Amino acid sequence: MRYTYLQAAMWAVLYVVLALSPLGLMLLDPLPEGRGFWMEFGVAIGFVGLAMLSLQFVITGRFRNFAMGFGGDNLLQFHLATGVLAMGFILAHPVIIIAHDTQFLAYFDPRVNFMRAFALVGAATGVVLLVVLSIWRKKFRLIYEWWRLSHGVLAFLVLLAGLAHTLQVGHFTDIWWKQGVVLFIATGAMGLLVYTRVIKPRILARFPYQVTDVVQERAEATTLVIEPIDHRGMHFEAGQYAWITVNDTPYSLQQHPFSFASSAEEPSRLTLTSKPLGDWTSTWPDIEPGARAYLEGPYGAFTLRWDSPCGAVFLAGGIGITPIMSMLRTLDDRDDERPLLLIYANESWEDVIFREEIEGLKHSLNLEVVHVLEEPPDDWEGEEGYVEPDLLDRHLPEPCDESFYYLCGPEPMMDLVEPELVKRDIPLPMIMSERFEIV
Ligand SMILES: Cc1cc2nc3c(=O)[nH]c(=O)nc-3n(C[C@H](O)[C@H](O)[C@H](O)COP(=O)(O)OP(=O)(O)OC[C@H]3O[C@@H](n4cnc5c(N)ncnc54)[C@H](O)[C@@H]3O)c2cc1C
Repeated sequence: MRYTYLQAAMWAVLYVVLALSPLGLMLLDPLPEGRGFWMEFGVAIGFVGLAMLSLQFVITGRFRNFAMGFGGDNLLQFHLATGVLAMGFILAHPVIIIAHDTQFLAYFDPRVNFMRAFALVGAATGVVLLVVLSIWRKKFRLIYEWWRLSHGVLAFLVLLAGLAHTLQVGHFTDIWWKQGVVLFIATGAMGLLVYTRVIKPRILARFPYQVTDVVQERAEATTLVIEPIDHRGMHFEAGQYAWITVNDTPYSLQQHPFSFASSAEEPSRLTLTSKPLGDWTSTWPDIEPGARAYLEGPYGAFTLRWDSPCGAVFLAGGIGITPIMSMLRTLDDRDDERPLLLIYANESWEDVIFREEIEGLKHSLNLEVVHVLEEPPDDWEGEEGYVEPDLLDRHLPEPCDESFYYLCGPEPMMDLVEPELVKRDIPLPMIMSERFEIV
């Protein structure tokens, strides 16, 4: 369940308190002698930068209850924004101090202390690389899996260097209990990385799944039917996703997020549907029944709400139909009678994944379907082109305070439709969107 504004605000306040907590530690007795405002300001933002870097490990630690309230893509956006800010603080730290007193340039001089200069230059370069390679990963043509591994390793090393630097300088941390607190925060953060990458996969290994069927769908998509081996499977909410590895260990770098396409009523028969978008998804058609799989989840705040009497509007584009299909299948299994509208955009009629099943759902659910085709057949009488404002005007029902809008599709469609819904006075909390593309 997505957090309310109040809950989200409380998490934000907690974040700020934790990020600023090292300043409290600095101000506790015993205090060293003051060295002027700019000097102490430079030190303070270094501390805050280090605390923010530690908190990055919590944000991306895939802690289910915490992540569920925000949604994976929101957390990643927050992770990116705070990462850029932390980089700014960490780089400003030496700049301000050296501008105040140039004798601190010696910290970067390998002739004075090789290890110290090496660690500081390494940490500064590392923090810049962390941000630059994340923002421009695609421009640099970095393979996603290798970027993900290097991101974790680099973050770990930068934090380690920051911790060593804090303890070695020791100006505000020259007493054992202050050193203990700094060590606790930084090693706690590094421990979270070990938990995510080592302990959690070990736990996953105890709950294996098996691919029991591989179904070829339209538009070259493939559906994997996955069943638990000697356990009860995965209870999820319609619209959520899991991280999956197939024919590999749960430690594999080839672990990818996929929305459940099946009904939430069937936790022991899960289906995931993928389009061949890259190296790993292109191997899906060759996966054989019997293949071993591991699922980590469920995650995501893009979930079906049951408290909306006015029904729901679904806007899907291409493979973005998968979480919405899970919602429709779940609504069908629960004999839901509320009015539902699906606007489903695809390139051609042949590309409409789950086309026949959706036709069937029109009879068992109170469902209206509007297909939008980019390249329609000659005899097509339906909507053509893209999901655009006038098309929304033609089909969206009168806004109802309690109606939810679920949106999942290609980036251009999401970027156009989200603001259009807001323009139509639909309150933000009623617009749920899921983006498959990460930065
Ligand atoms: C919450 C969520 C749910 C998703 N559900 C589905 C689904 O139901 N069906 C479907 O076909 N696709 C889904 N995706 C996208 C799917 O995860 C990626 O297409 C897949 O990981 C690409 O792997 P690849 O190695 O084949 O491609 P690559 O060659 O590695 O990359 C192709 C593109 O996919 C993106 N990508 C690669 N790895 C990941 C990753 N681990 N996480 C997110 N994006 C990645 C890259 O940015 C790149 O642009 C979902 C993504 C997210 C974030």
